[in-house]
This record gives sequence, C-alpha cells and structure tokens, in this order.
Amino acid sequence: MDRFKAILVERDEAKKQSVRVAEIGPEDLMDGNVTVHVDYSTVNYKDGLAITGKLPVVRRWPMIPGIDFAGRVVSSDDPVFKPGDEVVLNGWGVGEAHLGAYAQYARVNGDWLIHKPEGLSPAECMMIGTAGYTAMLCVLALEKHGLDPRMGPVVVSGASGGVGTVAISLLAKLGWHVIAVTGRTSEADFLKSLGAAEIIDRAELSETPKLLAKERWIAGVDTVGSTILANILSMTTGEGAVAACGNAQGMDLPTSVAPFILRGVSLLGVNSVTVPREKRIQAWERLATDLDKDKLKALTTEIGFDDLIETAKAITEGKVRGRVVAKIG
Ligand code: NDP
Repeated sequence: MDRFKAILVERDEAKKQSVRVAEIGPEDLMDGNVTVHVDYSTVNYKDGLAITGKLPVVRRWPMIPGIDFAGRVVSSDDPVFKPGDEVVLNGWGVGEAHLGAYAQYARVNGDWLIHKPEGLSPAECMMIGTAGYTAMLCVLALEKHGLDPRMGPVVVSGASGGVGTVAISLLAKLGWHVIAVTGRTSEADFLKSLGAAEIIDRAELSETPKLLAKERWIAGVDTVGSTILANILSMTTGEGAVAACGNAQGMDLPTSVAPFILRGVSLLGVNSVTVPREKRIQAWERLATDLDKDKLKALTTEIGFDDLIETAKAITEGKVRGRVVAKIG
C-alpha cells in the first residue's frame, strides 16, 4: 500500500470550502480495524452536498467524501473479515465524519461492513449504492405497514433521481402500479421503461396543499420533502402510508395533521445511515433478488475517478439521471 489518490474536501480559516485531488498514504487514513481496497463507489446526493458544501454534511476536516463503496479486504483485525473478502459499506458517517470512499483505500470499523451479497457484482452493488439501498428500505417500510400492490397505486417523487429510479424499478417488479412524479417530463419514456405506469409533472404537486385532496394512491416513496411531500400526504388514501427519505426540494414539510387524523395516513421515516446489520443484510438480499439487472444497467451511468467532482456538483443541481457508478481503484 504505497501512496494513492484521494479526493480531499478542505476548509480554510475563514471556513471557505475547497476540493482537490491529493496523494495520500496509509498513515493519513483514520483509525479502524479493517482496511479495504475500494473497487467501486458512486455519487449520491449527499456526496454532492459534501463536495459542494451546499449543506453542512461534512463533520471532520479534511474529509475524503464518498458514503459508500464495494471493495476487497486488504487486512483485518476483525474476526468476521479476512483478506480477500468482498465487502460493501454504506452509511455510518463514512464520507461525513470518517474518511470515505473516494480514495483507493479506506480504513473502517468492521461493524460497518457487510459481506457482498450473493448474486450482485461489486459494480452492481455500487450501481445500487446508498440511493438504491434506501429505495429498498422504503419498500420494506411500506411492506411492514401491511401495504401491497392489490390495495392501490404507489407514488414515487424525485422519480428520475437515484432513489426514485431504483424505487420505480423495484415497485414495478413487485407488481405495483407506479405513479412517477418528476420535474423532467422529457424523461417520461425512460421512467416508463423502468416500470412507471403514469407520469405526473412535479408542478402539479407544487401548489400549497389542501388539508385533504382527492385520494390518488395508497402508498408513496418520497425523496424530496417540502411542498411535494405535503401534497402527496393530502392525496393518500385512508390507512395508506408514505415512506419519506429525502429533502431534494427542502427540509420543510408544510402539511397539517388532517391526513393523519382524518384518514389514518402514516408517514414512515427512513434513515439509511445507522440501520442495524441484520436489516442491512436483508435489504441487500432483497435487492439481489427483486431488482431487474437490465433495468439497473439502463438507469446507471459509468464514470471514472476523475469525473467524481463534476458529477457531485451536477447531482446537487438535479442534473444526474438515475444512478452513477464510479471505478475507484
Ligand atoms: P438525486 O439527485 O439523484 O435525485 C433527486 C431527485 O429529486 C432529482 O433527480 C429530481 O427528480 C428531484 N428534485 C431535484 N431537485 C428538486 C426540487 N427542487 N424540487 C423537487 N424535486 C427535485 O438524489 P438521490 O436520489 O440520491 O437522493 C434523493 C434524496 O434522498 C436526497 O435528498 C438524499 O439526500 C436523500 N437520501 C436520504 C437517505 C436517507 O438515509 N434518508 C439515503 C439516500 C438519499 P426529477 O427531476 O425526476 O423531479
């Protein structure tokens, strides 16, 4: 393990943020009991926030961004992992508080790793990445609530994004009638090819929501928050539920209690970062069986290490379609 390339996000004394490609050595990595050669990573919305500084997700300086990776164990003091094991990591503050995936090597806590799921290659794991994994957590949350495709349609917001495209593909394969909400209606054919049955222009859900509106779906996966989520809730059929995981439109939620107390609608919070290992493994196993590989390929763009910074900027501007997989080492 000689010197290797890493993307470094730094902050000066005036707290002005900058980003550059640097050469670092093993001594620069943080403490951890497993060292991994990073084969693939990806660009999630949060990586975009870390690199641009648009929201303060970085909590340690300098930081190597990259909240997830697939790679091979180089050395391990954790009895669960041995050199050569193929592993996947997403979350646990990696790329935010602990040096992340945008470097050829990462040193992490073994408790944060899982073995690569059977049936998915390392590249496919990162085509899915944290965004796709979060889409699966949303599906699991809806299922746990007792919802199934026979009860009515499901709505997916931020449809052309990473979470949205994987959610559409998963839900369609599971038999749901999927209604996709997008600001990019030019992507209608693409979204239909993933399994969306109907497309709604985001503008339709951008007015101040009524307390209750006409019921349109029994379930939802919301990746944007704010006014769109408020509208989705006001249009959810009685006893339905919406899994909320994102804030691409905003952190606010201008809703009322009406959908909850008059229709028994539930809002299910999804946080992918600190999910216990058993549920993590369950979600990855379901991804290996429930996600159509051809659709996964169709919604993925492949990039190299040198494209990471530009792609991270683009994702915060809503310019990335679907998922991105990045070859790192
Ligand atoms: P992407 O940028 O790939 O997708 C977000 C999508 O939201 C865009 O493609 C766009 O879809 C839509 N969008 C963008 N800007 C706006 C806007 N101003 N108003 C309304 N819609 C907008 O991001 P990801 O899919 O990777 O992540 C989606 C969200 O989920 C992010 O907020 C991210 O932070 C969050 N997330 C949360 C996790 C958790 O643990 N809770 C884990 C992973 C992600 P379109 O053009 O089709 O409208």
